[in-house]
Amino acid sequence: MTNKVYFTPGPSELYPSVPEHMQAAMANKIGSISHRSQQFKDIYAHAVSGLRQLLQLPDNYEVLFLSSANEIWERAIQNTVEHESFHLVNGSFSKRFYEISSELGRKATKYEVAFGEGFNVDKIEIPASAELVALVQNETSSGACMPVADINKIRAKAGEEALIFVDVVSSMPNPALDYSKIDSAYFSVQKCFGLPAGLGVWLLNDRCIAKAEALVAKGISVGSYHSVPSLLSKAKANQTPETPNVLNIYLLSQVLDEMNKKSVDAIRQETEAKAKLIYDYIGSSENFDIAVKKPEHRSPTTIIANTKLPASEVNKRLAPFDMAVGSGYGSYKESQIRIANFPAHAVTQVQALVYKLQELIG
Ligand SMILES: *Cc1c(COP(=O)(O)O)cnc(C)c1O
Repeated sequence: MTNKVYFTPGPSELYPSVPEHMQAAMANKIGSISHRSQQFKDIYAHAVSGLRQLLQLPDNYEVLFLSSANEIWERAIQNTVEHESFHLVNGSFSKRFYEISSELGRKATKYEVAFGEGFNVDKIEIPASAELVALVQNETSSGACMPVADINKIRAKAGEEALIFVDVVSSMPNPALDYSKIDSAYFSVQKCFGLPAGLGVWLLNDRCIAKAEALVAKGISVGSYHSVPSLLSKAKANQTPETPNVLNIYLLSQVLDEMNKKSVDAIRQETEAKAKLIYDYIGSSENFDIAVKKPEHRSPTTIIANTKLPASEVNKRLAPFDMAVGSGYGSYKESQIRIANFPAHAVTQVQALVYKLQELIG
């Protein structure tokens, strides 16, 4: 038994009601039901309608369940890119999507800025030949985010046919996306949805679907069981091609009910208020300073601080008080800490973290 509160940026703290939903799932033997049964189809439909409501998704978007955001990167390239993709790179996750495109034999090009920086969209030139434009709204490795107003400027810079893909893995449902200005957004559930890992959610519009169909018509392989046409044909019947992560789809449907009851607006307001508590503290600390220099590029959901004390020492001091923050990403492991500010983190928990850090570290 542990009472530790995880402020790590994913996996992270579970949504408070998850243990209760887990027990209900066991009591109802959710792990044993057929993924072709009416009971499963109802769970699936419940999760999709919960997502549609929370994310205010327009009718020309479909919701697909995959295994992770990594898988969505691969399927996105296979299903929507014949020759070329273009990537805005400013950290490890945006870089990884770029690499995956080349590993799959496409021409991947990029516009890159330093780790920890955001983008000045006016400076970006997008090749007219790029079929997919990839951007990470919230770069979890560095804490830099892209304001929605900047995302909305991308469409006019890209070719008319280009599909705009937005990674919102560590921010959704916080950014109020304008779905008419993009073509796809995706996330996995172990970050902002407070669930165990093993489920990716892919939102994609009719333009993405048409592109996948066009590739198929040209005789190009778009993959097998998790190709867009295969996923869609099953999704229409509230199913997946394979035996899916039924337990997690069930847990997601239950957590979405609570998030919708609370309302996405209330979640967003709370996120901003908690972010302010954390940034105000880091900004005034002797030991920490805010890693992302431009205020407009500072993520509200994954907050990164440079630390004089090694990150492992910060966590060693927090451990007796049942709290853990994330270490820095990759080569920043000891020189930065990352604090997740997700819907699962209560205001009181964030206050307690800030208070303890102040007391223990200054
Ligand atoms: C965690 C993360 C991913 C990868 O998610 P997986 O579910 O592990 O595949 C992708 N993008 C961002 C921004 C992330 O934070």
